[in-house]
Amino acid sequence: MSVTRKEPKAASATHVDVVIVGAGISGIGSAYHLQQQCAGKSYVVLEMKDTFGGTWETHKYPGVRSDSDLYTFGYRFKPWVGTPIASAEEILKYMGEVIEENGIGPHIRYGHRITGCSWSSKDNLWTVQTTRLADKSTVTFTCNFLWMCQGYYDHEKPYLPDWPGMDRYKGRLIHAQLWDPKLDYTGKRVLVIGSGATAATVIPAFAEKAAHVTMLQRSPTYFFCSENKNELADRLRQIGIDEPTIHRVVRAQIMYDQDMMAQRCKAEPDAVFEELKALIRHYAGENFQFEPHFTPKYRVWQQRLAFCPEGDVFKAAAAGKLSVVTDTLQTFTEKGVRTASGEEIEADIIVAATGFRLSVMGDIPFSVDGKPVNWHDTVTYRGMMFTGVPNLLWVFGYFRASWTLRVDMLGDFVSRLLSHLDETGAKRVEVALRDEDKDMQLLPWIEADNFNPGYLMRGLDQLPRRGDKPEWRHNQDYWAEKVEIPQTDLDGSEFLYDGRPRAKAGKVRKIQVA
Ligand SMILES: Cc1cc2nc3c(=O)[nH]c(=O)nc-3n(C[C@H](O)[C@H](O)[C@H](O)COP(=O)(O)OP(=O)(O)OC[C@H]3O[C@@H](n4cnc5c(N)ncnc54)[C@H](O)[C@@H]3O)c2cc1C
Repeated sequence: MSVTRKEPKAASATHVDVVIVGAGISGIGSAYHLQQQCAGKSYVVLEMKDTFGGTWETHKYPGVRSDSDLYTFGYRFKPWVGTPIASAEEILKYMGEVIEENGIGPHIRYGHRITGCSWSSKDNLWTVQTTRLADKSTVTFTCNFLWMCQGYYDHEKPYLPDWPGMDRYKGRLIHAQLWDPKLDYTGKRVLVIGSGATAATVIPAFAEKAAHVTMLQRSPTYFFCSENKNELADRLRQIGIDEPTIHRVVRAQIMYDQDMMAQRCKAEPDAVFEELKALIRHYAGENFQFEPHFTPKYRVWQQRLAFCPEGDVFKAAAAGKLSVVTDTLQTFTEKGVRTASGEEIEADIIVAATGFRLSVMGDIPFSVDGKPVNWHDTVTYRGMMFTGVPNLLWVFGYFRASWTLRVDMLGDFVSRLLSHLDETGAKRVEVALRDEDKDMQLLPWIEADNFNPGYLMRGLDQLPRRGDKPEWRHNQDYWAEKVEIPQTDLDGSEFLYDGRPRAKAGKVRKIQVA
């Protein structure tokens, strides 16, 4: 029987109160909070992959693991019971349990790639177009609120610089994000290009079986070496404390320690670096040489510290299994690469650990009342809402603390906002610059002297802008937000409900969406 497909119209769309975009750690956490705090709201999670996990499903390179501890990278509501640093597999198992235990599964629509989101102020609705990957059909949803949990990078196309001579190379060149688990590196010479968290993860795993591993880095990275255990958690378990209490206490301990560390990094960076070096020496021996490959040029904490459980990278270096070259890649050759200083590095497999391609809002085209949204023309409210774009929030987590701390925090915020809409009878909420914000300087999304990873710096012109007042800043500061966000006055004059401020009548300046 042949069936003629008609293009679905908005009328045939499935309507829900909330669409959550993405079934990564942000989307699943947000679904949990919505269910818990706004019981009765209908929702779907739209995910283009055929399973949950996001980052933890995409990355399959050897040794893939967290570099945060799971007491804080895990949700506040589900105790973590394993070692602090966890493999992707363990994180997926944890997320699977959250889905199962809370009945989230039936709400997830896998294999649905969102291809467009358009807001109508007449109907106070988002229309979300998706392509169902199984049959390439268009499936449309409408919703009142769009909860963007699509992450910040392209899961399909990583960032690979266009190096000269790449086509000449006769070995296997692969980006870490696209690693094929079937690729056998036993006895091979492996070259890893890059020195960030990914490189720190793959190198010890390669070193176990490869003939030799070389890391080619443009500049050195800070490493934090530690045992993969939490003594407080182990002790509390030993004396019979229940897991929810252990989770709460150990989270508090880790966040306190991280805060102290962050403050010290700013106040006494040299002393911190000496301590990091002492930890490395513990694993690599007293005579380990830090110059030139392990002495970074940037301030400690300007980029994420690369975590090194059990000093594994340095043990590999001390055992002669890892060589480091600090230089610029000039060209690929048939057998490997040549650096700017003329050094030839031969390799059977070259792994580019060169990072992400930024993807703002999943590269989904957005429009508001028929006008395309250019995110760079918007100003962000605390890195979560955007001027001119109603009923939408983006969960952009922390970089220097665990991403997920913000998932829980914004879960509370959205739930409060949705309840506030219900209580006041308003259908639409958006943020808008006020008269007093008129002359505010508009700045790039991230404060570059505060935190400056390459993928964000490459994409600043695609990201929303921020201002210099607390409500328009995106400060990446968990400790400040922990206090400020729960106390947000939802009737503050930066919020418009159905186009009007609630608190006091006053003029507002709406930013133009191009
Ligand atoms: C290897 C690796 C290790 C990391 N380790 C840590 C760590 O230890 N600690 C830490 O804090 N952070 C870490 N990060 C940062 C990490 O990305 C975040 O912490 C977190 O996993 C991001 O979760 P997310 O759910 O927001 O986004 P993602 O994990 O990126 O998930 C987004 C989901 O949205 C889906 N999606 C996107 N666009 C669309 C669309 N158009 N239609 C439908 N679905 C779509 C994607 O398929 C994906 O499943 C790590 C990152 C990487 C790559």
